[in-house]
Amino acid sequence: MKVTLRRVGLFGGTFDPPHLGHVAALRDAWASENFDEIVVTVAGDPYLKSNEGAITPAQRRLGMAEAAFAELAGVRVSDMEIRRSGPTYTIDTARELLTEEVALTLIIGADVVPQLSRWREAETLSSLVTLYVLPRGDDMVTIPIGWRGTIASMEPVDLSSTLTRERLENGENPHGLVPDAVIPLL
Ligand code: ATP
Repeated sequence: MKVTLRRVGLFGGTFDPPHLGHVAALRDAWASENFDEIVVTVAGDPYLKSNEGAITPAQRRLGMAEAAFAELAGVRVSDMEIRRSGPTYTIDTARELLTEEVALTLIIGADVVPQLSRWREAETLSSLVTLYVLPRGDDMVTIPIGWRGTIASMEPVDLSSTLTRERLENGENPHGLVPDAVIPLL
């Protein structure tokens, strides 16, 4: 009997805060018709970012992500990484999402590609998932050796959470930076 796999996209992040680049990425991924569902996971303890300065508490980032992505087709925001204690490892999330009926794809920005080899159990992860890589900036995007995946055709959106925080601190209008629903939660 042929089993049709459910194609799940996993878009994990810190979302401190969620911004219009994340929205564009999710819209592109859904429009690509590569996925039956996209799960957004908000990292409880993003250990690779912990030494870059204070991070907004996880529950607040979860609330902002829920508000930011609520209207997007195909997208569900999950608190599964927040409910787990300790550092957030994608391999644990992947294992939770992977059942016999699921084909899992990590949706990641090109900036994440050079970090992949440092992720916990990277080699195992590379055998369990495929990648859907979003361009960021003008650099050429490639699928790293040892991984399988595709590259999104979207135009890069020049926005990051770091840039968003800086621009908000400088008094810039939040409407061009984050989804409207996030503004009261900033
Ligand atoms: P930071 O400024 O702290 O690096 P970030 O904007 O990259 O934050 P994260 O929450 O760390 O936000 O990112 C979650 C995911 O979204 C990552 O895979 C990241 O590469 C991707 N992403 C973030 N911004 C964009 C963007 N403008 N275009 C495409 N992907 C993006």
